[in-house]
Amino acid sequence: MNYICMECGRKTALSDRAIYRCECGGLLDMVWDAGSTDAERLKRLFDARLGERGSPLSGGVWRYKELIHPELPLSSIVTKYEGNTALYENDRLGSYAGVRRLWLKALSENPSGSFKDNGMTVAVSHGRWLGYDRFACTSTGNTSSSMAMYAALCGSEAIVLLPALGVALNKALQTEAYGAKLLRTEGGYDEGIRFLERHALSLDLYVCNSINPLRIEGQKSIAFELAHQLGWSLPDWLIVPGGALSNAAAIGKGLGELYQAGFIAAMPRIAVVQAEGASPFHRMVETGRRPLVPELRPDTVASALRIGNPPNWPKAWRDALERTNGVTVSVADRDILEAKARIDRSGIGCEPASAASLAGLRALVAKGIVHKDETAVCILTGHMLKDTDAIVQSLRYAGGTSQRQTRAEARAPLPLLPEVIRSELARA
Ligand SMILES: *Cc1c(COP(=O)(O)O)cnc(C)c1O
Ligand SMILES: [Zn+2]
Repeated sequence: MNYICMECGRKTALSDRAIYRCECGGLLDMVWDAGSTDAERLKRLFDARLGERGSPLSGGVWRYKELIHPELPLSSIVTKYEGNTALYENDRLGSYAGVRRLWLKALSENPSGSFKDNGMTVAVSHGRWLGYDRFACTSTGNTSSSMAMYAALCGSEAIVLLPALGVALNKALQTEAYGAKLLRTEGGYDEGIRFLERHALSLDLYVCNSINPLRIEGQKSIAFELAHQLGWSLPDWLIVPGGALSNAAAIGKGLGELYQAGFIAAMPRIAVVQAEGASPFHRMVETGRRPLVPELRPDTVASALRIGNPPNWPKAWRDALERTNGVTVSVADRDILEAKARIDRSGIGCEPASAASLAGLRALVAKGIVHKDETAVCILTGHMLKDTDAIVQSLRYAGGTSQRQTRAEARAPLPLLPEVIRSELARA
C-alpha cells in the first residue's frame, strides 16, 4: 500500500507512522495493490455477504473490503456494522424538488447517527493496525461522536478539540457520553484542523479528520452501497451537502472506481450543496478563480456545514466536479429549514445539514440545471436527533407554532374529556 500525493505525484510507502500530507503540502490518496477487480466476481461476492451475520464483512462498509482496504487483517477491524442504511424512494419530496424520481439515502441511520461512521470505522481500524491507541479530531460534532464511539469500542482513548463556537449541544454530549476527552478550544473547525496537521505527530495522536485518506476510503462505500441497492445502476444525480468536502470527494472517488472497474455503465453527476453563509467552494466554482478563498466567519443554521476553509476542496474539485461533470449550488438557511421540515414530516427525518441536499436539488431544478424528467438521490448525512434546537426552528416551516415553542407546549393542557378531544380532532 502506498500514499500518493495528488499535487506532485510523489509516492510514500506505508510505515508505522501515519502521514496526512505530502512534504509539498498536497493531499494524499491511497493506492492499493488491489489484485483482481473482476466486477462480476466481486458483485457475486458482495451479494453473498448480504446474507452473512456476525462477520465483520456483514456490515455496509467492510462488505466492500476488496475495494476499500484489501490489506487490513480481519482481526484489526473495529466495526459496528455501520453502513447498511436504507434508501427511500419518496414521490412527495420528489415533486417538492421537481424531479421525476427521488430517493433519499439515509446515512443518518448509521450507529452514531451520521455518515462519519462509514469513514471512521476504516480510519480507526487502520490506526489500530498501525499500533495507535489515541485518536484525535476537531469537529463540528459528528466526527467527534463517531470517533469517540469507535475508540470506546476498542478500548482506546479519544481526544477531541471542540470549537468553542458552533457545535450542536446534542453532538457534544454524545461525544462526552462515549468517554472522549473534550478540550474546548479557541476558534472554529478550521483552526483545529490546522493545529492537528502541525502537531499530531509530536503529540502521538492519530488524526481521524478527513485529511486522513483512510476516512475517504471508507466513505467511498456510500457510492458502493448505493449502487448495490439500485442494482448497479445509478440515477442521473447524487446531491451531496458540502462542509469540509470529504463526502463529495469520497463519493466521487467511489463512483470513478466503480465505473473504471465496470460495475456501472454510466456515471451520475454530483451536485455539491453548500449553505449560503459557508459557501467558499461554491463561490470558487462560480467565479472560476482558484485557489479557494476561505470564509473567515462561516455561519449557518446547519452546524455541520459551518466550515470556512474546507481542507478537501482539491479532491472535491477533482473527484466530484471534474470526474462526474458535477456542479455546485448554495442555499439559504430558511430553505434548509423548510426542506428539513418536509423530510421530517415524510417520516424519514434528518438534521439541517442533510436537508441542504433537498433544498439544493430544488434550487437546481429552478435554475434549469437539473431537468424535471431526471432522477436523483439526496444524501441525508445526519440524524434528526443530532440537533434538537433546529427542530424547534424548522417546525415554523411545517405549519407548526410560530414561536420558539413546539405545538405540544403551545397552550394550557386540555382536560381529558371526549368532547374536548373530539373538537380538537375536528380542528386539526
Ligand atoms: C460532516 C457532515 C457534513 C459535511 O460533510 P463534509 O464531508 O465535511 O463535506 C454534512 N452533514 C452532516 C450531518 C455531517 O456530519
Ligand atoms: Zn506532493
